[in-house]
Amino acid sequence: MTSTPAPASAALFDRARAVTPGGVNSPVRAFAAVGGTPRFIRSASGAWLTDVDGFEYVDLVCSWGPMLLGHAHPEVQAEVSAAVARGTSFGTPTEPEVLLAEEIVGRTPVDAVRFVSSGTEATMSAIRLARGFTGRDKVVKFAGCYHGHVDSLLASAGSGLATLAVPGTPGVPASAAGETIVLPYNDRAAVDKAFAEHGADIACLITEAAPGNMGVVPPEPGFNGFLAQTCRDHGALFLSDEVMTGFRATRQGGWGLDGAREGWVPDLMTFGKVMGGGFPAAAFGGRRDVMTHLAPEGPVYQAGTLSGNPIATTAGLATLRLATDEVYAHLDRVATTIRDAASAALTEAGVPHVVQSAGTMFSVFFGAEPVRDFAGASRQDTGAFAAFFHAMLESGVYLPPSAYEAWFVSAAHDDRAVQTVLDALPGAARAAA
Ligand code: PLP
Repeated sequence: MTSTPAPASAALFDRARAVTPGGVNSPVRAFAAVGGTPRFIRSASGAWLTDVDGFEYVDLVCSWGPMLLGHAHPEVQAEVSAAVARGTSFGTPTEPEVLLAEEIVGRTPVDAVRFVSSGTEATMSAIRLARGFTGRDKVVKFAGCYHGHVDSLLASAGSGLATLAVPGTPGVPASAAGETIVLPYNDRAAVDKAFAEHGADIACLITEAAPGNMGVVPPEPGFNGFLAQTCRDHGALFLSDEVMTGFRATRQGGWGLDGAREGWVPDLMTFGKVMGGGFPAAAFGGRRDVMTHLAPEGPVYQAGTLSGNPIATTAGLATLRLATDEVYAHLDRVATTIRDAASAALTEAGVPHVVQSAGTMFSVFFGAEPVRDFAGASRQDTGAFAAFFHAMLESGVYLPPSAYEAWFVSAAHDDRAVQTVLDALPGAARAAA
């Protein structure tokens, strides 16, 4: 399945493949799941991407989440330019780090945060801290939740409800994956069974606040609160990974969807994407008594040459300060409009589908049944998605090139951008039929 020829992208992809595995620096960018030529983007502004062939696309990927305000936001650009002029890295504490940490502590239930440079580093460090704090080794995760390419979290479950994991990729030692228990998402019985069998050895349970890495699969009502309580009952820490949902699903992230209302608080949280404003910045944070176990206050070691980089923290701070309630209301309206139109077009074309959302994040599953776990997500028709994807691309809409990804919108998705998406949907739905 391919779309309109894109000769300049194709030429760059050939050169890239000669010097970089698969021609990309993160696998999903290669279009492997949908076929065709990945578009090499030359520039972006607001809701629009421009590729090296000069084609323009409405961006529904937003750099996989970070670009909440849209691309090249003038105020963020101005703050970043001023920061660059002051120098790019000092390896010392800086004021923007303090301001960004205060902003994050103000919006979420964490007492303190430590900055790192990627979401992977955030979850890896949070797990080390959980293990150091509890003196236990085992980690519980859910199939279909992605937490970065951390060894112990790239594990897949064997058969059975509660099972010890095997490595999900060559290169991960069995010993690393062997401390990981992988469970089906939204399955309380599986969680109860795992904690009944291994509770005294479990350092933490990690979950996406609202999973977006198997497509958007929201927690069933009360599920996150149940997880928090189960962890507390067994002396394990509840680690809510908000790298994707943080400052994106709602102003308070995924926690704003249920935790704020239901009154539970994660022991640890991880953040990334939006909080870096398009630069490499991420963080982990949590309860003060847990966070004080980190060096230099406590015994658990963690460090980073570029952690809290002044350009990245400046971009993140500018982004969060501009992400007002009005911005989230706009994202909600745009997401609802696109979601409803996608569903109407697919219904009209007779394509079985389910649209699922978590706050302003959403995705379309090409199958008839609501999806509550990874097994359900895996039953969708990925061929239909690929046809839909390429038809959208030809009509000037850039979707995530995989059926297992969330769609993202931004504050810059204005009427023209939304209308371009709405105009593209009926033809793409017919292509998927
Ligand atoms: N956690 C979640 C929920 C994510 O969605 C991701 C990336 O998509 C990560 C962690 C890893 O973040 P990074 O790609 O910055 O390492």
